[in-house]
This record gives sequence, C-alpha cells and structure tokens, in this order.
Amino acid sequence: MQDLRVFCLSIGFDNYATNPCPCGYHNHPEKDCVCGPGVVKRYLSRISGPLLDRIDLHVEVTPVSFDELANQRPPSENSKDIVNRVVRAREIQAERFKELNGIYSNAQMPSRMVREVCAINQAGQTLIKKAMEKLQLSARAYDRILKVARTCADLAGSPEIKIEHLAEAIHFRTLDREGWAG
Ligand SMILES: [Zn+2]
Repeated sequence: MQDLRVFCLSIGFDNYATNPCPCGYHNHPEKDCVCGPGVVKRYLSRISGPLLDRIDLHVEVTPVSFDELANQRPPSENSKDIVNRVVRAREIQAERFKELNGIYSNAQMPSRMVREVCAINQAGQTLIKKAMEKLQLSARAYDRILKVARTCADLAGSPEIKIEHLAEAIHFRTLDREGWAG
C-alpha cells in the first residue's frame, strides 16, 4: 500500500483508503460479509458524494490468496520501466504548466483549464456522456475523469487523449457505480 501511495503522489493523485463495509468482507473472494441488507450501502454512503468527487482514483483491492501469489506470472512491465514512464509523465506535465505558478501536475489544474487541456474527440464525448448518465456523475467528477484521462495519455506518451485513456479514467470511478453495494 505504501508503494501505491508513493506512486499516487508522484503522479499527482491523492489517495484515501476505506473498508468496503463495517465487517470488511464485502466482495471478499473467500469470506462472507455478515453485514445486513442495506448496511453496506449505508456505510458507503457516508463517504459518497462530495468526498468521492474529490478522489481521483477509486480502486477496489480484494485480498490475494497464497496460491494466486505463488502462481503469479512475471509482471508484463517491470518497476524500472514504470518509474521511467512516471518520470516522463511528470516532465510532460511540468512543461504543460510551466507558465503557471504553483501548478505542476494535471491534478492541480483549475477547472477553467480542463476543457482546453483535456480536449477529447467526438467518440470520447459520446463515451463520457454515456458514463455520466449511467453513473450519474457530478460536474466535478466529470472534470476528474478528464484530468485522469489526460494523465493516462501522458503515461502512454500520447499527445491526444484517446478513447482508451478515457475508458481507463472512467474505470477508476468504481465507487460511483450503482452496482457496488446495490
Ligand atoms: Zn460486511
């Protein structure tokens, strides 16, 4: 978790961790959640809305069993390559905001700059419109998706935000989905 935190901070994301429910076993691969109907939803609703809007990435982390760990294949990209990509993405962002005082990363970009810096094509607009309707996202969540998509594109070394970067950013809004504790 420490590594993830360092990684998040290094590319300009902030992070916050929570249990999925009071007993901690909601969506656990082996153990059963003992929380009653409605409890999980009520529990998560405490962190919903404005707070969730302020969090860039929602990632559900389920426990990994010993067998899964033991059988793990080597990662497709090694840590050194990932670090290099992050460093490169930071450089791209520093260059992008060099005229602006106190802004070094996409996450710090003020709302008024988002439309210009995070321009998306017609297909991207259609995708994000669908996601907005399905997930009932707020204007702030919309801005977050565009900023995260910009960072995904930077990490891929792409000058444009492509549809896959946008899809990746939308994927990080797990907790906005109705299915989470539905
Ligand atoms: Zn539970």
